[in-house]
Amino acid sequence: MSEAAMLNRHLATAKPSATYRMIDRVAARRETGAKIISLSAGEPDFDTPAHICDAAISAIRAGHTRYTQVAGLRPLREAVAAKFRNENGLDVSWQDTIVCSGGKQVIFNALAATLNEGDEVIVPAPYWVSYPEIVSLCGAVPTIVSCGEHTGFKLTPAALEAAISSKTRWLILNSPSNPTGAVYSRDELAELAEVLLAHPHVLVLSDDIYEHLIFDGATFHTLAQVEPRLASRTLTMNGVSKAYAMTGWRIGFGTGPRWLLDAMEKLQGQQTSGACSIAQHAALAALTGPQTFIEMARGVFQQRRDLAVRMLNETPGIRCVTPGGAFYAFASCKGLLGQTTPAGTRLETDEDVAIALLEECNVAVVHGSAFGLGPYIRFAYALDTDTLRIACDGIRHFVDALTD
Ligand code: PLP
Repeated sequence: MSEAAMLNRHLATAKPSATYRMIDRVAARRETGAKIISLSAGEPDFDTPAHICDAAISAIRAGHTRYTQVAGLRPLREAVAAKFRNENGLDVSWQDTIVCSGGKQVIFNALAATLNEGDEVIVPAPYWVSYPEIVSLCGAVPTIVSCGEHTGFKLTPAALEAAISSKTRWLILNSPSNPTGAVYSRDELAELAEVLLAHPHVLVLSDDIYEHLIFDGATFHTLAQVEPRLASRTLTMNGVSKAYAMTGWRIGFGTGPRWLLDAMEKLQGQQTSGACSIAQHAALAALTGPQTFIEMARGVFQQRRDLAVRMLNETPGIRCVTPGGAFYAFASCKGLLGQTTPAGTRLETDEDVAIALLEECNVAVVHGSAFGLGPYIRFAYALDTDTLRIACDGIRHFVDALTD
């Protein structure tokens, strides 16, 4: 038997995450001594706030180092429920919550607990790279719905209606979005909800992980709040990774119908069990302690967004709409295609542009087609403004040196 034949057939065909591939490429370039500025990582560059780290250290010293309940420590689940009630207007008690090892495990648990071979999951593109891969790993089929710049990279009610079939099990919504930073307004969610109300067999995963990174004074809305009649079939997912600069702590959480949460808990119980006890204590401190970090981070990210979008738009051949949230700018690089770099590479695709930027300009980005829409480049601007300015200047010089 070949090695490939020994693998699970869904895993054998799964693609490694394009963002991790870029991280590997960056590491390989750095090993050669190159000084790379990475605009490819999907995480805040801030340190986790001190009071959260202190809570983790206290948890260790207090001996909170044992297994916890699979669905999470009760005080944390109570804090999660309070967060959903107070910030999102959801009618949630602690039993309606689950804590997992990162937001990604919430998503994985939900999909693995519900999908069967041949089921369909609607994934608006551009999408976070893991959605279609997780769907495929579960033996189901991602129904990719292309959402171009003309709709602000957002799913329209008509496109949703057209994508729903009798096999559709889930719709995945992500606002603010990775990779575009697009934010759905209350009205836009209400229009999608209208469509969903007519299709009671469709569950909805609302990935709200970038909730707090929303700019220009806009208000965040989530589907189950906008249309409470959908709450009984919506999994609202969130976590501490992006809001509190805690990507390495691996704590995510969700709320949804109890039958779904029970199934997710059952699955998690045979997989990772409860999330790390120390990280759960840290997440509790994050949710119940001072929230000043969130305001600070939002202000800083908005300034960086303004800088990055302005400098990218001043670069001939690159065009970028202003994103409303997250820390990504999704810029068209169509104007660069067909040109040749100083090292002699002809740029045919957005991936060529991303690789050339790394090899010739020492700036790491991820190409849009990895997220299901080209020719675009995703710039993650989670970097201090001086470094960001150096990166954007470098991109400008690189572009100025291209030849037809
Ligand atoms: N959802 C989106 C859209 C993301 O971009 C990410 C992380 O990059 C996650 C979920 C996963 O978050 P976590 O790090 O908590 O697993």
